[in-house]
Amino acid sequence: MAESTELQARETIHAGGKWRAATSGATREILDPADALPFAVVSEGDEKDTDLAIAAARRAFDEGPWPHTPVTERAALLRRVADLLVRDREKLGRLEAQDAGKTVEEGRVDIDCVADAFRYFADLVAGEAPGRVVDAGSTDIHSVVVHEPIGVCGMITPWNYPLLQASWKIAPALAAGNTFVIKPSEITPMTTIAVIELLVEAGLPDGVANIVTGPGHSVGARLSEHPDVDLVSFTGGTVSGIKVAEAAAPTVKKVALELGGKNPNVVFADACATEEGFDTAVDQALNAAFIHSGQVCSAGARLIIEESVRDRFVTELARRAEKIRLGRGTEDGVECGPLVSEQQRAKVEMYVESALKEGAVLRSGGKRPEPSPQRPEDGYFYEPTVLDHCHREMRVVREEVFGPVVTVETFRTEDEAVALANDTEYGLAGGVWTSDAGRARRVAGRLRHGTIWINDFHPYLPQAEWGGFGKSGVGRELGPAGLAEYRETKHVYQNLAPKPVRWFAG
Ligand code: NAD
Repeated sequence: MAESTELQARETIHAGGKWRAATSGATREILDPADALPFAVVSEGDEKDTDLAIAAARRAFDEGPWPHTPVTERAALLRRVADLLVRDREKLGRLEAQDAGKTVEEGRVDIDCVADAFRYFADLVAGEAPGRVVDAGSTDIHSVVVHEPIGVCGMITPWNYPLLQASWKIAPALAAGNTFVIKPSEITPMTTIAVIELLVEAGLPDGVANIVTGPGHSVGARLSEHPDVDLVSFTGGTVSGIKVAEAAAPTVKKVALELGGKNPNVVFADACATEEGFDTAVDQALNAAFIHSGQVCSAGARLIIEESVRDRFVTELARRAEKIRLGRGTEDGVECGPLVSEQQRAKVEMYVESALKEGAVLRSGGKRPEPSPQRPEDGYFYEPTVLDHCHREMRVVREEVFGPVVTVETFRTEDEAVALANDTEYGLAGGVWTSDAGRARRVAGRLRHGTIWINDFHPYLPQAEWGGFGKSGVGRELGPAGLAEYRETKHVYQNLAPKPVRWFAG
């Protein structure tokens, strides 16, 4: 802990255009998950700080210029932010890698995707018609449906893709003309703080973008329940999402939830009929399960494979999983970083232990790796783990592990594959591997998940909606629906030739 005393606490609460410390004076050390050492100290806000930030956002919405700023100017500001992100790509990519335990290359890709989100929403609003004229059946009536900003947006984000998840909220909210208060995960706030600085640099008026760094139970809960917040958009675990929805209910605010997943990756034998097909399907199953150590809401954590190819496939998957190079994400040659926290690793260990007790067969991993020069002893590392012979009654198959663990289940028929893939209370994403185009479309049509990949896994497009069925969430991010979340719809009916209606005789 000696290092922590040398770190200077930063003022990381931004409200009404000013950076400040927490009202209570509390601070939090931000740890590098690769060695568990603090690398920054931030303000630890609470309900009081949240109230101040909400008041600033409220004022900026009710009195400020931003909601009425011409859409072309709003779009131009978002594009400036994208340019600043490109300018700071290396710095931000490294910061994200250190904070969230990614490789630097993953961090850079995240920043590219963040810039893409800002550009996408800038283009979307700039190209829109200002309203939809409705035929009211009379030339005396002019009737138009318009979309207006919803107001003050509360945003709560997780630790796995800190800035990417934030950008999917900030960019559409600003494009639509809203003001906001964001609360990043208390353990990975660094790049969200940095993007608020970029928004200021880009010229956003005071009070439009506010941030309160601090915990979920105080800052997040206050944002959810506060009567002056018009919408709360949450990305995180399903348990926290339910609490957010409950806290938001009495004020009848709009709620958008992007929650957990337990995503099937369905592999038919025909996808593995050629050597090239087999290699591609294994390689992508590896990527689906283990990128960012499996701490991905859409991770392909359930491999559902046709029985006839299971042995060969799982043997190769486990062989390659063992070769993944674990280490500090800033070191050359490292392919996968640590888990984000001791708590997260303990959760993964608990799930693996329970799976083995329930009869799963360990094919790779299942333990902490030996320390090495690239892997400090105190880092939260865990080996990529393949669990064979799993079935739907196991906790590890039903619940989100959020770590480097893939379970293997088998099927014999297409119907069985679909039933297994849909046998989850979640419904975020899923993959289908087959060389039969008809089967691909049939199965994709029957899967109850928000995104389906056919012969691929993980890509998303800013112009296509992202979100979940079932307990994976409510609402959508990205795409036109991701902008609509941040708007109210208003019908303006204008009578050009008003006359008395004489409904009442007197
Ligand atoms: P989490 O639910 O623990 O925390 C998410 C955020 O909610 C954090 O900022 C936290 O401080 C806050 N929070 C916690 N309790 C709260 C409360 N009572 N009220 C308000 N806010 C509260 O999730 P996490 O561990 O940070 O992230 C991992 C989870 O996020 C996984 O379940 C993952 O699937 C999910 N996720 C989903 C998506 C998606 O697009 N659907 C994307 C990324 C992550």
